[in-house]
Amino acid sequence: MIIKSDKSSFQSYLTDSSNYKGNAEKLFMPESIQELKELVIDCNRKKTKLTVSGNGTGLTGGRVPDNGFIISLEKFNEILNLDEKNKTVTVQPAVLLNDLQSFVEQKNLFYPPDPTERNSFIGGNIATNASGARTFKYGPTRDYVNKLKVLNPNGEILELDRNINDRSFKFLKNFNIKKPLTSKNASGFFCEENLHLIDLFIGSEGLLGIIIEAELKLIDLPKEVFSAVAFFDSENDALNFIEESKTLSFNNQSIIGARGLEFFDEHSLIFLSKDFPNIPNSAKAAVWFEQEIIRNEDEIFENWSFLLEKYKYSADSAWFASDPKDYEKFKDFRHSISWKVNEYIAQKNFKKVGTDVAVPDKDFHDFYFWCKKLVSDSNLHFVSYGHFGNSHLHLNMLPKSDAEYKTAKENYYLICKKTVELNGTISAEHGIGKLKREYFELMYSEEEILQMAKIKKHFDENLILNIGNIIDPRFYEMV
Ligand SMILES: Cc1cc2nc3c(=O)[nH]c(=O)nc-3n(C[C@H](O)[C@H](O)[C@H](O)COP(=O)(O)OP(=O)(O)OC[C@H]3O[C@@H](n4cnc5c(N)ncnc54)[C@H](O)[C@@H]3O)c2cc1C
Repeated sequence: MIIKSDKSSFQSYLTDSSNYKGNAEKLFMPESIQELKELVIDCNRKKTKLTVSGNGTGLTGGRVPDNGFIISLEKFNEILNLDEKNKTVTVQPAVLLNDLQSFVEQKNLFYPPDPTERNSFIGGNIATNASGARTFKYGPTRDYVNKLKVLNPNGEILELDRNINDRSFKFLKNFNIKKPLTSKNASGFFCEENLHLIDLFIGSEGLLGIIIEAELKLIDLPKEVFSAVAFFDSENDALNFIEESKTLSFNNQSIIGARGLEFFDEHSLIFLSKDFPNIPNSAKAAVWFEQEIIRNEDEIFENWSFLLEKYKYSADSAWFASDPKDYEKFKDFRHSISWKVNEYIAQKNFKKVGTDVAVPDKDFHDFYFWCKKLVSDSNLHFVSYGHFGNSHLHLNMLPKSDAEYKTAKENYYLICKKTVELNGTISAEHGIGKLKREYFELMYSEEEILQMAKIKKHFDENLILNIGNIIDPRFYEMV
């Protein structure tokens, strides 16, 4: 096992992509499950706090320790088995999403979850129930986890299998928290009637155990994909276009069947224009969408064109992918906005205040314009984009001074409050970590958070693992 005791040698593990800074005494990098197990048992006995590190691409400080030891899982990076017949792949937690996707695609298989950051570990994706553009059609990471092996703080390895219908976990009987009425959610423990234990672990941000192995579900690789970027002179038209595309996509009779529907506002297009100079200057919004081709491509193209015309897209400037190179270029267009914004923030040394909220579909249109007005009225520079197919908004406020930062935080609070009033979620994909606990408490009552704290204590009696994530530690003193 590699052990680092000199802080300067593990400084990069004391933060993540949120830039939240933490502290730890040592970093441990086990090279076998036995080493990991012995370390965890020893820490549990001594009540030493442990924080699990994935690849640190998280945006909420989840892998950032406040104290104690860090366990980096990076040595567990093997794809253990591909079962082509049953379409499953078994992986260790530190396999990169990017590597997994490329590996299965070479075998004509497909792993649908596609968080924008493909440099993340599968273990991190499962711990945060990560999702992406294709979640619109295929759902989040949760839907692709068949089996999990999880190491508990007491050294026990739990083997959870979705196909074994063991729902007899008595302590879960009274676990009852309300679910947001959204198609995506990454806020706190998952809850539903007749909950399977595997679902409790997915998205629990490492509070209940360390994921050491996962069997993931694959599907056949779609042969061809139709992809486009359309520009609009008004945001309203772009939103209405998305709304109707969404309705049609869920109608089995319709030829339109998007697998992703993403929105970019005017400010996003300005950020992207250096790399994509053919973005029209007059565009006020853009929509990126794609659909798998399982029937006549001309028919699909005609149906999309008809819909685009209805919502007055800029016909002269739309981009339609005609070969795999275009398709990759459009994917870059979609993915690079979060990078561009982060790069800008880093260059200017500003702090971004960005939402990850989703609301019920019926409320999204009004909610979007409400948020925009709030931020515009406070004279803040902002960039908004997101997975609008899932009514999920990334509105990034880019304050230039401490006073603006304060205003941005006030707006952020108001947006979360409004989200909760609409039965939405304050985090649709990034999770709560340490940075969003305050807003998490807007979403759930004290009673509900205490139920989560009880579950935490059931698996981690000595409260050593990932303390500070999701649940404010003060709740542990109350159960
Ligand atoms: C530019 C950019 C774009 C992004 N886009 C998306 C997006 O589209 N969708 C999305 O969902 N997220 C997105 N993210 C956030 C991030 O990539 C995801 O949250 C990702 O799942 C984190 O994986 P990681 O390996 O980096 O985990 P880390 O950041 O290292 O950890 C995340 C959390 O998981 C826990 N954890 C990690 N591994 C394990 C394990 N094996 N067992 C138990 N707990 C574990 C950690 O303790 C921590 O609480 C983006 C981030 C960036 C920087």
